[in-house]
Amino acid sequence: MAEYLFHSNWLERINQQDIFIFFDFDGTLVPIMKNPDDCYLSEHTKEILSKLKEKTKICIISGRDIKDLKKRASIEGICYCGSHGLQIEGYDINYFNPETKRLKPIIDEAYILIKEMVKGFEGAIVEKKSFSFTLHFRQVNPAIRKKLKKYFFEIINTFKEKEIKIQNGKMVFEILPAIDWNKGKSISFILKKFDKKVLPIFVGDDLTDETAFCELKDYGLTIKVGNSKKTVAKYFLKNQAEVYKFIKIMNEVLNV
Ligand SMILES: [Mg+2]
Repeated sequence: MAEYLFHSNWLERINQQDIFIFFDFDGTLVPIMKNPDDCYLSEHTKEILSKLKEKTKICIISGRDIKDLKKRASIEGICYCGSHGLQIEGYDINYFNPETKRLKPIIDEAYILIKEMVKGFEGAIVEKKSFSFTLHFRQVNPAIRKKLKKYFFEIINTFKEKEIKIQNGKMVFEILPAIDWNKGKSISFILKKFDKKVLPIFVGDDLTDETAFCELKDYGLTIKVGNSKKTVAKYFLKNQAEVYKFIKIMNEVLNV
């Protein structure tokens, strides 16, 4: 089980090291909203991250499209990873996973079918992204969620496993091209471009972040936001609000 970050000796670990901090976005840097469209980085978080970026490398990594992510975070001079790392931009990296393009028409086909299917379910939101889409069912009446999931998998199962993959998140299904790539792999990809002595820190709240916790478990500092029971992260923060406190401390202890 993860250890509460603020009761641990984490500050000793970051002492005298070059740091690279990776943040998930929704549920980590911003609170989860009923409507994913309402999530923007708050002014005070933006301000503190803008100070921190002068002292350490920062990357925001999300399931959102890179363009959308950049718009919502709107901090210049840091790294962004969109679509769970299929696209990476920043610190002289400009990466786009080549398999993505090939599978895009299949994802689009699934999107049309799912979009049509959810019409019968009030509160279901299908969010289209460039290379993937997300079904949000947080606002669907719990009594009919099971039925929605059944219909969802009936459609998804008509596609080949090597074409489409499903990722579970908090009250969402993410429908992605079946590429062997995830947040963890994209973080390793980025780190390889830098000095190996850097200490990577990853902060995330959701199931998709576990790939990053796994990837960094031997040499990074991994922080889960919220429920600490089912995670491979070493540390946890009690809630999203504590992420701000974490950033503030980092900003105070790191010297340029
Ligand atoms: Mg998240």
